[in-house]
Amino acid sequence: MSASRLNFRLDAQAAGSRARAATFQTLHNEVVTPLFMPVGTQATVKAQLTRTLEEAGSQIVLANTYHLLLRPGPEVFRQLGGIHRFMSWDRSVLTDSGGFQIFSLPHSRSMSEAGAVFQSYLDGKTILLSPELSIETQKTMNSDIMMALDRCIASTADEATAREAMAMTHRWAARSLAARGDSAQSLFAIVQGALLSELRRESAARLTEMPFDGFAIGGLAVGEGKSEREDVCEFTAGLLPNDKPRYLMGVGTPLDILEAVHRGVDMFDCIIPTQVAQRGAVFTSRGYLQMKRGVYKFAEEQLDAECECPTCTRYSRAYLHHLAKSGETLGWQLLGKHNLYFYHQLMREIRESILAGEFLELYHRKREFLHESDLDNPTRLPKPPRKRALRLRNYEVHIAREGFASMRHIASGEIMHSRTEPMEEARRLYVEQSNLAERVRDRTMEKLVVWDVGLGAAANAMAAIRCYEEQAKTAPTRPMRLVSFENDLDSLQLAF
Ligand SMILES: [Zn+2]
Repeated sequence: MSASRLNFRLDAQAAGSRARAATFQTLHNEVVTPLFMPVGTQATVKAQLTRTLEEAGSQIVLANTYHLLLRPGPEVFRQLGGIHRFMSWDRSVLTDSGGFQIFSLPHSRSMSEAGAVFQSYLDGKTILLSPELSIETQKTMNSDIMMALDRCIASTADEATAREAMAMTHRWAARSLAARGDSAQSLFAIVQGALLSELRRESAARLTEMPFDGFAIGGLAVGEGKSEREDVCEFTAGLLPNDKPRYLMGVGTPLDILEAVHRGVDMFDCIIPTQVAQRGAVFTSRGYLQMKRGVYKFAEEQLDAECECPTCTRYSRAYLHHLAKSGETLGWQLLGKHNLYFYHQLMREIRESILAGEFLELYHRKREFLHESDLDNPTRLPKPPRKRALRLRNYEVHIAREGFASMRHIASGEIMHSRTEPMEEARRLYVEQSNLAERVRDRTMEKLVVWDVGLGAAANAMAAIRCYEEQAKTAPTRPMRLVSFENDLDSLQLAF
């Protein structure tokens, strides 16, 4: 058996980004990346036919070992010839290890070197999920890609806890490889290390020494903030080999996925498309829509004018609104179908843009609207313009002859940025002279801390933020933290 069972091939690497497009071959089909895998927890993607998944463009479906181990149980898969035949799906299946469910589901559990002990939520039986049992179960399902059992912890755990969990994950990874033996099924390891770059580095180094077929970035989407997740994701992806797939587990919204592709990740899975559909929500080319809103009651137009899915081509927003309001199963199914098409269409566009050398343009264009709610029917009315106060306690707004505004301290008469427009002066005097642009591009995980001693009306702070944002548009950046010791916020309030 060769070192990699997937014959991973890099098709293109985006310029100015870590985004990449690749192709690999599983036991069932050729897979192109970046790709999104719908989640079929109980060997079904909720409320969707496997035929719909094929038509939408799903290449791999994820199934949960934890749930399927408990029901229907490995014996069913053994007798019925694996999960593909069982669920009538002839493309690829990735099975997770069960580790994440044991960590996240609310029931008693205990961890030891042997594995995770937990009680079945079906019959209360005590089960020891060892790395070997996890692999054995995944083997009976005959999934294309298996995951090694890992020890999950909250991403915000302290260093000692994170280190211990990581070391156990490494030992379990080696046991999983041994249990896989010469099976033709692929096996991925999961890089742990919480939010600590030193541990992530250690984990990646240790696991990439072993002959895994791909690597997942684990331990994220479990308690950290969005920017922390993106930093760790980028840092960890950069530690993984170029010739193996990289998989970010449990992520995410379309915007999260776009950001992670930009940071070098190839594979994603998430329950979001079908889960939000159950609650009546959809992602569209005009933003995120909650179909229960009254604005759609008489809306005759299709759900998303740019989508060609069976839901969009056949049903009006008014009908989908009615189904969502009534809690009808069909509404869940139709909205879920659209969301799956939306995700897969996004992944296809991302891949095409990488192949065409236009990923960064697409990235900036998509970023503009992917976080938006319905652009055509905003939920909040715009605020009426307020009358601006020009004076607050010790400060007043000073209008220069050239027309720009700056801040004047009334008692002393001192005008901040009196000669030049404040933002321009801040840029020249502080941002350029401190080489801020160069410093934020420094390839490190360490935060760049900027001390803006007297905040004032925040011209310098805003200039620093603007500089950071400009850099982030074109190149990966390190995190930046802005600290001020100001104790008088009057001029800031006045400027605002
Ligand atoms: Zn659609």
